[in-house]
Amino acid sequence: MVLPTGTVPDGSITIDGTRISGATPADAHVIDVSGHWLVPGFVDIHNHGGGGASFSGTADDVHKAIHAHRRHGTTTLVASTVTDDMDLLVQQAGLLSELAEQGDLAGIHFEGPFISPCRKGAHSEELLRDPDPAEVRKLIDAARGKAKMVTLATELPGGIDSVRLLAEHGVIAAVGHTDATYEQTVEAIEAGATVATHLFNAMPTLGHRSPGPIAALLEDERVTVELINDGVHLHPAALELAFRHAGAGRVAFITDAMDAAGIGDGRYLLGPLEVEVSEGVARLVEGGAIAGSTLTMDRAFQRAVTIDRLPVEDVVAALSANPARLLGMDDRVGSLEPGKDADLVLLDENFDLKGVMRRGDWVVDPQLA
Ligand SMILES: [Zn+2]
Repeated sequence: MVLPTGTVPDGSITIDGTRISGATPADAHVIDVSGHWLVPGFVDIHNHGGGGASFSGTADDVHKAIHAHRRHGTTTLVASTVTDDMDLLVQQAGLLSELAEQGDLAGIHFEGPFISPCRKGAHSEELLRDPDPAEVRKLIDAARGKAKMVTLATELPGGIDSVRLLAEHGVIAAVGHTDATYEQTVEAIEAGATVATHLFNAMPTLGHRSPGPIAALLEDERVTVELINDGVHLHPAALELAFRHAGAGRVAFITDAMDAAGIGDGRYLLGPLEVEVSEGVARLVEGGAIAGSTLTMDRAFQRAVTIDRLPVEDVVAALSANPARLLGMDDRVGSLEPGKDADLVLLDENFDLKGVMRRGDWVVDPQLA
């Protein structure tokens, strides 16, 4: 059992209704999970879809995607949009905020349209625009208190003012899909940016004369860096470099998943763009840019422990505690502690997922006595 204080080999936990309880009543129903790892439910702050559906779709699509990821241990999920027409984004923000109010989503992450055409990745170039604080405000308002994060290229005109506006409204300003220099990135962090959107991906590489955004984001204690640990987006050495430099407390593993996550190869849409998924790697049909991942959080966990050889406690921090703190939800989720939601993931000795509990209900029942 991985607790905030460390790993306990023979621990026990009591669930009362939807919460973890401090005391164990004498008549408690006991489930023996010996031989397994028990870790907190995963918190994914950057996710576009899964189960064949996307967070840019209808309410049915959104539910489908939520449940696909829930079955892989993600008990707290922020829905990410992709660059689209502003009117459509405003409309989608309304729909997603309703689902957030019902408790199914932790909030909304807007990725684009305020990003750099030089680092557009799988975003439609003709729909990109400079970050205008008035338009950023429009999205925040449309999300009715549920906007959690906006990814933007802070070096563009209006970028720094937009970062300030986001910080003032308690929305995370994330530096990403950016062509910023080191100095421009430092300015963005000073203005209030606190997250690096998939560090290394969709930004200039680390150069010895022009260290770019990567060095600025890694070195600043105030910044949490997102990493996509699917073995495609990052070389294991790059992951290790980020982990060592930022420390385990400033890393958030994300999926950046698209529709194919939890389903498999085929043709899909990412926002308005067509994507071909082959052998689990999603690429734009036109141009071939990597278009999100097919990753689920349980696989990110397993890779981190078995391939990257990171300590289990650090992996738990990167998948649960750190993103929960970042969202300001660490009073409810992100660790196994009395008073918090009974969100649990059960893994076997090979770190294969065996059970998922969300708010006291089994989503994946491990079928143990
Ligand atoms: Zn994304």
